[in-house]
Amino acid sequence: MNDATGNMGTADINDGIYFAPLLPWQQSLWSQLTERVLQQQSLPHALLAAGMQGMGKRAFVWRLVAWLLCRSRDSHPIGACGTCESCQWLRSGTHPSLQVLPLVSMPISAEHADNKEKSGSTAKDKKSSKTASSTILKTKVDDIRALQPFIYQGGQGMRICVLDHAEKMTIAAANALLKTLEEPQAQVHLFLISDTPAQLLPTIKSRVQQLALQTIEPAIAVDYVTGELGHTINREAVSTAAIHQLIQLANGAPLAAIALAQAPWYSKRALWLTTWQALRSGKRSSIAASDYWQNQLNIVEFIQLSELMLLDIRRVCLGLDELQKDINLSALLEAYQPTDSGLEAFANSLQQTKIALQQNVQEKFAYDKLMQELAYL
Ligand SMILES: [Zn+2]
Repeated sequence: MNDATGNMGTADINDGIYFAPLLPWQQSLWSQLTERVLQQQSLPHALLAAGMQGMGKRAFVWRLVAWLLCRSRDSHPIGACGTCESCQWLRSGTHPSLQVLPLVSMPISAEHADNKEKSGSTAKDKKSSKTASSTILKTKVDDIRALQPFIYQGGQGMRICVLDHAEKMTIAAANALLKTLEEPQAQVHLFLISDTPAQLLPTIKSRVQQLALQTIEPAIAVDYVTGELGHTINREAVSTAAIHQLIQLANGAPLAAIALAQAPWYSKRALWLTTWQALRSGKRSSIAASDYWQNQLNIVEFIQLSELMLLDIRRVCLGLDELQKDINLSALLEAYQPTDSGLEAFANSLQQTKIALQQNVQEKFAYDKLMQELAYL
């Protein structure tokens, strides 16, 4: 469901994340780690924040990084003070004791990002992040080697490296990192972040300590999502059932559930079914449907919507309960069920469209084609 819940673009994280309130399900881990530091016991040399998107891994790591570096941390156990020299450096993205890979993952205020762009230093990165974000996320061996002087420089005070999307390191980069993990340096801490820890090398995993960020009590998740949505989605009242459905669709990840509720396509699920029916029965042409939907959602959003619908249609066809209880899906599928091969073909079309879009295929063309395929589902 990661795709369907909308990716939180790492480049969009702003500096507020350093000083944001602690997420309710992270309180005990926070106290555990901060108390350890306040009692002058050291933290593990290398920590891993792993698990699916929407659990608040990055929020926790950046908050902890800010606090560890904060000059006033002893008098501010609940989080970085936000005003000392260190906290100011974080805001401007110029902290001398922090290194981040890939660089686009560093939370930075919009104002500073603008300044940097004007001065030209990140203009190139920004441009390429639009065209090839997956390449820019990949950490290469030279990036790891470039960290070595920072790690081995010695001197006073804590130094921190954050390696985001750690699973995207090349093998050579992972091997270079392994050496660093085997030679812990005093006052140096490494934080690895990964949405898909299964893709990390076992040798890396065995040398880092995993942060216990993955268990969220259902009741806490429900309370949090309810509070954050302020009882409304797109100005409509939200029932408890709707909250439970969102959390279930997001595999229990509260931030992903909120992103889902706020996704422009989530309120168009019943509309998708109506279009599908109209296309299949011939009441509407695929060109008309394409024109209509182009005014509703961009193609990426339409694909996310279609993937969720496909997932649930598959479930019902397999005799399982539908995840979405609010759009009469099973009633509709009692009258007609697509074949396995039809489902497969449409799923493939969605995948192919995603690839085509990366190669700059026109949105209208992609929409026309998908509507043609949907008519045969
Ligand atoms: Zn501070």
